[in-house]
Amino acid sequence: MVLNSLCKNCGGSKWTALYSVTDFDTGTKVYWLGKCENCQIIATMDVSVDTLSRAYSRQYYGSGNAKFPHFLERWLTAGSRRNAKTILDEWRFGDEHHKTPSVLDIGCGRGTLLREFQSLGADILGLERPEFPLGEASAQFIRVGSIMDEQFNGCNFDIVIFWHVLEHMAEVEDMLQTVSGHMNENALLIIAVPNFGSYQQRLFTRHWFHLDIPRHLNHFDKNWLVTCLNRNGLSEFSISTFDLTQNIYGFVQSALNLLFPGRPNAMYRLLKHQAGNRNWFGLIPWVCFALLLLPIALLESAFSALTGRGATLTMYARNRSKNRNK
Ligand SMILES: [Zn+2]
Repeated sequence: MVLNSLCKNCGGSKWTALYSVTDFDTGTKVYWLGKCENCQIIATMDVSVDTLSRAYSRQYYGSGNAKFPHFLERWLTAGSRRNAKTILDEWRFGDEHHKTPSVLDIGCGRGTLLREFQSLGADILGLERPEFPLGEASAQFIRVGSIMDEQFNGCNFDIVIFWHVLEHMAEVEDMLQTVSGHMNENALLIIAVPNFGSYQQRLFTRHWFHLDIPRHLNHFDKNWLVTCLNRNGLSEFSISTFDLTQNIYGFVQSALNLLFPGRPNAMYRLLKHQAGNRNWFGLIPWVCFALLLLPIALLESAFSALTGRGATLTMYARNRSKNRNK
């Protein structure tokens, strides 16, 4: 397979084709994953602007404050609380000033994580895509726009977060360069992405839940991210590949995608559609299959994380240089 597009990250034109994936929303369009021979990024090829716009429909964001059923929302909120506390502790550990931290969450969704930071005393700002349903019950601290916009010139932060967001962006290097210019001295950058170097990706390839085609435009492994962040002045990395929710669900849904290739992400879609709509019957067979797969998922997640090959990469990096944007 010869791939012809220009690399959105570096402008290069030579690619190594990896494998093809049928999109997870409609099951009709085939995309290739390619590795740029110049910058080594792994990208989903030829995703059009129109396709992306449709892929971020209102259904993607959920309505009001609910995206999943109540019990799942509570589980996810508890996870956000733990994450916010861990991130703040880590930031304080490396910054002796102990001032009120300013937190920027790029791709903040409904702001669940930011609300937890706010309750812990931080100043917060969240950014979202143009498709985000702003206005209708959305929080005041969420703005539609990019940190690359002029309106954010001179805005600097102590903590910047890309929580499962960087893989949705086309120009990764430009974005990380811009962000590093908005970080105060000793500021912390947190990136969580699916781990393309994981055992799950190798095992499930085109059926892997965390490919999320066509929304995920890029696919990262640890070495690529560390090299890119180093180039942009960040250092002191702390890296984990263990995320209980993402990794276990990723295994179960990927196995279901492999077993039922005509129904990609069927259980996930049903879970998302349940919010505000209590028809549980469609979910019952999927949940039965999921329970059978759960013990293997638990074993895989534990073993993979211990060997640094878990399905999710969570990286902390610090900016030790004086802010270059002042
Ligand atoms: Zn490239």
